[in-house]
Amino acid sequence: MTDADVAIVGYGPVGQSLAILLGRLGWRVVAFDRQPELYPLPRACHLDHEAMRILQAMGIADAVHEAIVPAREYLLLRADLSVLSDLPRGWRTPTGWEASYHFFQPDIEGIFDRAATSTPGVRIRQGVEVRTIESTAQEVVLTVGAPGSPGTETVRATFAIGADGANSFVRRALGIGEEDLGFEATWVVNDVEVHEGRSLPDVPDTGQVLDPAQPRHMAWLGGRHYRWEFMLSPGADPVQAAAPEAVWPTLSRWVDPSTADLLRSAAYTFRSLVADTFRSGRVMLAGDAAHLMPPFMGQGMVSGMRDAATLAWMLDLVLRGSAPVAFLDAYTRSRRPHVLAFIRQSMEVGLLVCETDPVKAAARDRVLAAQIETPPPFQPAVTAFVGDHPLAGTIAVQPRIANRDGRLLDDVLGFRFALLSPAAIDVGADVAAALRRLGAATAVIRPRGSAPSEGDLVEADRRFTDWLAASGADWVLVRPDGYVATAGAGAESLEESLASLWGEIAVAA
Ligand SMILES: Cc1cc2nc3c(=O)[nH]c(=O)nc-3n(C[C@H](O)[C@H](O)[C@H](O)COP(=O)(O)OP(=O)(O)OC[C@H]3O[C@@H](n4cnc5c(N)ncnc54)[C@H](O)[C@@H]3O)c2cc1C
Repeated sequence: MTDADVAIVGYGPVGQSLAILLGRLGWRVVAFDRQPELYPLPRACHLDHEAMRILQAMGIADAVHEAIVPAREYLLLRADLSVLSDLPRGWRTPTGWEASYHFFQPDIEGIFDRAATSTPGVRIRQGVEVRTIESTAQEVVLTVGAPGSPGTETVRATFAIGADGANSFVRRALGIGEEDLGFEATWVVNDVEVHEGRSLPDVPDTGQVLDPAQPRHMAWLGGRHYRWEFMLSPGADPVQAAAPEAVWPTLSRWVDPSTADLLRSAAYTFRSLVADTFRSGRVMLAGDAAHLMPPFMGQGMVSGMRDAATLAWMLDLVLRGSAPVAFLDAYTRSRRPHVLAFIRQSMEVGLLVCETDPVKAAARDRVLAAQIETPPPFQPAVTAFVGDHPLAGTIAVQPRIANRDGRLLDDVLGFRFALLSPAAIDVGADVAAALRRLGAATAVIRPRGSAPSEGDLVEADRRFTDWLAASGADWVLVRPDGYVATAGAGAESLEESLASLWGEIAVAA
């Protein structure tokens, strides 16, 4: 018997998410981090509605919701801080959450940590680094030890995940290469806490200052926390630029040492990289170990959380014996193209924001000033382990359920496949068996105002009913990570679609 079903290398937000999700599914998890404590300084400050849905699966959406603030305002500003374009993030999301939120990373990582350490079956070993990792046909063998000490210990796990950040040791040890998409810009990131009783109402939720002399960004992160960032010109010394005596003058319009504390200043070189594959044998990569993007859309950690949600259900299928190990290739096929789309989009935003040529910047500003409508949310579809219905791979609508205390659907059904339909479907033995193998829940969801049969769910409005009807489907199979696996009309199409999805697993075998 192995020491753990899954060993996780790295206990940043992505390793934490994986530990919680896999632990809640009942697997024995051990997570290692070479740091003795959580990384104390914020990097991420934005998460989106999809991350909130994953936090539901982690059982901590309500706790995190208490610690974050909606980020509805998105201003593009001129050098003098006058508004060039106001693009509020007011769109209605399929998940039922707000589109965007801001937060102070140590607050939410603390919530993740408490959830992980209190999940039965999850062991967190901080202050322990992973030194070697080898994937054999049956298991993964890791050697671990305290940094700086010669002693080592051998740990055996059925699977392992490298969630060990941008300089991933696991990725290198497995010989997995990376594709560099070529973005590079160095910014100084400053986190500030204003003193008790103070606030800065003229700092927007998000303000991108499109100043070709020095592109900047500012954001209110909730409570007394604010962030200011500025780009460095080529050749500038990042260490000097991030020194407090260089940073304070850039903040003088808003704060000074008598009104605020500078929590930290750090220079980061933003890059765009993606690993060639996210799987080698029994080891998978997740989070920054698998992909890096410039942070202009606030999607790096969120993408890592998407990795965690997808990998958790795929590993669950394999660990339960419902799918072969080779099925885990679907993880790369599901996540890599999706995250590549986010990397490319983040680079596009980054190239707009980081423009330093005054002529090109003026042309950009003319286009942006004319833009009065917020662009639609960027929501690429996933393309693996999905059927061929137009809804397949898109984010499933998550209604609130009126006859379950107004709770969101995933909280009612749990982190599992769900076959949803507006009326009962008469399924045959093959379909029932396929759904059992997937561990799927089935639910009839009626629109508000209708009389439910026993066990039916009634949505608080008509969102789900209208969404499904608009696509011509009368059933939808939703993956645990919130994407539509497939949809269709009639019991026969359900049988065919399930056979085709299981065919994908059989091919892997
Ligand atoms: C300035 C900035 C702003 C950002 N803003 C956003 C944002 O608003 N929204 C967003 O979604 N993302 C944002 N990101 C990206 C986000 O911070 C990262 O994507 C996220 O932190 C990655 O998490 P991770 O768990 O994959 O890796 P990390 O947080 O890097 O964690 C990796 C862990 O692995 C450990 N480790 C490494 N090697 C070993 C080993 N051999 N043995 C044991 N442990 C090991 C490390 O100690 C570390 O704790 C931003 C990034 C930056 C730099």
